[in-house]
Amino acid sequence: MRTANLDNRLILVDDDGAVDVEKASSGLFSADPQAVFDRWKEFIAWAQSPAALQAERIPVDESRLGPPAPRPRQVFAVGLNYAAHAAESNADMPTYPPIFTKFPTSLTGPNDTVTLPSAFVDWEVELVAVIGIRAQGVREEDAWRHVAGLTVGQDLSERLVQLTPPSPQFSLGKSFPGFSPTGPVLATPDEFDNPDDLAIGCALNDETMQASRTSGMIFSIPRLIAWISAICPILPGDLLFTGTPSGIGGARNPRRFLAPTEELHSWVEGIGSLRNPLVAGPTYPDGLVPMPEGLKG
Ligand code: ZN
Repeated sequence: MRTANLDNRLILVDDDGAVDVEKASSGLFSADPQAVFDRWKEFIAWAQSPAALQAERIPVDESRLGPPAPRPRQVFAVGLNYAAHAAESNADMPTYPPIFTKFPTSLTGPNDTVTLPSAFVDWEVELVAVIGIRAQGVREEDAWRHVAGLTVGQDLSERLVQLTPPSPQFSLGKSFPGFSPTGPVLATPDEFDNPDDLAIGCALNDETMQASRTSGMIFSIPRLIAWISAICPILPGDLLFTGTPSGIGGARNPRRFLAPTEELHSWVEGIGSLRNPLVAGPTYPDGLVPMPEGLKG
């Protein structure tokens, strides 16, 4: 099953088009794309009912899609979750997953324009899991049952704010408005032959920057859910950005960052693509903080 957010209304998506959930359910389910996660099991059952299967189809204008889960209460993200990315970051292989947050105000839609606050914004394509059933103290072998579905995400990262000493600011550096594009759909885990092994990548204009498989994660989605939920509950509708493979701009020689007029294309096998045009914001190219020595040149 695939759901999406069309004009801030929850839709079911299939090969014939889309079903407006509130209309097709006669109001049983709200139009609010975020509200459905609190009733996820009930919704899955309804989506297989005649009311849903035989409902009138509407066309999907992809330019009007928003984030599949637009107002999560929590957004978790993990750093250094692919060995080649840890190596390009000059970091040791992590023993435990390094967790930070992306604040929910950074979410934007799959085709929305992203404003660059500086000339040091980097790309990080990521598989994003959306939680459907509250997870607290969940065992790894039970964790997939708590996942509503998977979507494509970009963990856009302003490297100056993120990395300037003395104390790294991962959460702020990754939370400028528009820094968390997600979409285009949420695909339930049963849509995949193996949801732990999906092709993932991104391109700048037509030049591929990252290309990998999610089976390369050091900490799988079940391990991440077990680790995080041992400490804090993960709530229905929360997002989990699962880390980026190698190929980020800051690790290239010479370094390369996102530039105005470029388009960032991001994909995950079996889910779809994000296509985010980039424009310069008022503080571009210098941004908010002075460039540290390590990033010069
Ligand atoms: Zn990331």
